[in-house]
Amino acid sequence: MPGFCKTGEGLTFRDMFLQRILPTRPFTLALIGVFLMLPLTPQAQLGYERPVVIERMQAYKQLIGADPDQKLVELQTLNKELVYDIRYATSNNFTGQALYPRTTALCFLRRPAAEALSRVAHSLQKKGLGLKIFDAYRPYAVTEKFWRLIADERYVANPAKGSGHNRGIAVDLTIVDLQTKKELDMGTGFDNFSDTAHHSFTDLPVQVLQNRKLLRDEMIAQGFVPLDTEWWHYALPNAGRYPLLNIPFKKIE
Ligand SMILES: [Zn+2]
Repeated sequence: MPGFCKTGEGLTFRDMFLQRILPTRPFTLALIGVFLMLPLTPQAQLGYERPVVIERMQAYKQLIGADPDQKLVELQTLNKELVYDIRYATSNNFTGQALYPRTTALCFLRRPAAEALSRVAHSLQKKGLGLKIFDAYRPYAVTEKFWRLIADERYVANPAKGSGHNRGIAVDLTIVDLQTKKELDMGTGFDNFSDTAHHSFTDLPVQVLQNRKLLRDEMIAQGFVPLDTEWWHYALPNAGRYPLLNIPFKKIE
């Protein structure tokens, strides 16, 4: 556009910059340029304040030394009948991508949670039923990965707080028939974020409501607390007792 950005002398700002300012102040301008290109501080880039997370094996081992309940215990070592379907080690989850190494074949919980879960499985076995585990302990870095994909607290944990999964006291699971390994009908699949997945949603077939109630009753009887928005998610209370962990699966013994 003629006359656009013209200075009083008939020069455009671009001309003035190239002919007069750049030759006289190259260092100042270079400094301003570097400043503008500097990456944002890590906290600002993350968009949340990183909480205290145990990441080093030495720190984790010290924690267990002081309190054996802090140990992550592999669930099948307590109960061989548990079925695993580790969805986050496959692309068969709501993100459509594998967030754990695809070779992940083990599931861990802090000792009291693992023992409580084993008691639930034992109780269900008397009815010819078993448990299928979708997720249990989740390294903190994966919660950060979730947040980079979907920064929405309705669906994923805010890394500023971390989740019960990062503390090794939360588990996502359903009930299966022990013989056929077929899942009982819970009305929705795992990680379904509609109202239908809520415990308070009761417009469902009687059998579905009974199945959900069975899981809820058995889990509560062993000390787990349900989450209203996800029929598959249970956690032990007293989360603050169990620090957030970022120990990769392959390092846990
Ligand atoms: Zn969960």
